[in-house]
Amino acid sequence: LNTELEKIEHLQTVSHLAASISHEVRNPLTVTRGFIQLLRDPALSQGKKLMYIDLSLKELDRAEHIISDYLTFAKPSMESDVSLNVNKELDYIIQVIHPFASMRNIALHIKKANQELHIWGDRQKLHQALINLMKNGIEAIEGNGDLMITLQVIDGNITIIIEDTGNGMDQEQLQSLGTPFFTTKEKGTGLGTMVAFSLIRAMQGEIDVKSECGKGTRFTISFPPLS
Ligand code: ADP
Ligand code: MG
Repeated sequence: LNTELEKIEHLQTVSHLAASISHEVRNPLTVTRGFIQLLRDPALSQGKKLMYIDLSLKELDRAEHIISDYLTFAKPSMESDVSLNVNKELDYIIQVIHPFASMRNIALHIKKANQELHIWGDRQKLHQALINLMKNGIEAIEGNGDLMITLQVIDGNITIIIEDTGNGMDQEQLQSLGTPFFTTKEKGTGLGTMVAFSLIRAMQGEIDVKSECGKGTRFTISFPPLS
């Protein structure tokens, strides 16, 4: 019964995500369509033309960001839940996040486990979830800073810690974290954390967040071991 329930919950998360993304991407597309229609008017001034083009590009960027928070790593593969070697998956994830970090002068500090650790889950979803959180950590840092990624066993659980020296969050922001569309960024979607939390929970993971304004943030994600 337990596993059946878990399966249903998992399916609901997945279809919920699919429904949200089509909803969210439709908005910028509709707006862009409107601007393009306006551009057909031959009497339009050059200034207005440029304005509509700029707004259209902004809306398309927004659609792009939404898709990357949801689906960068979703591949149309049949693979779903498998045994994942977390050290190995972290290698891949770090490879993806590395250029993003160095572009912003952020130093990555990686501490992997010296034993093989396995969890049960969907590879692409684990990638998406952790990359969304790491991206936020990097984006929270102004100027130089550090992003620490640690894998270890804590109380028998396989634990991934993502810690940044960024601007942190106050109590109110922490409360809103993970709710759809909460963002403090000019070009934010407010979807990355929600997606990450939902994917982690679908893999039986638990999340703890500690944050201090001006100091940084630490996400502790723990999964039951696969034995
Ligand atoms: P987005 O990154 O598009 O704003 P997210 O859902 O990924 O959307 O994040 C929502 C908000 O949560 C961010 O705008 C930011 O205010 C806050 N946040 C998330 N992670 C961190 C972090 N590591 N440090 C500081 N603030 C964070
Ligand atoms: Mg984000």
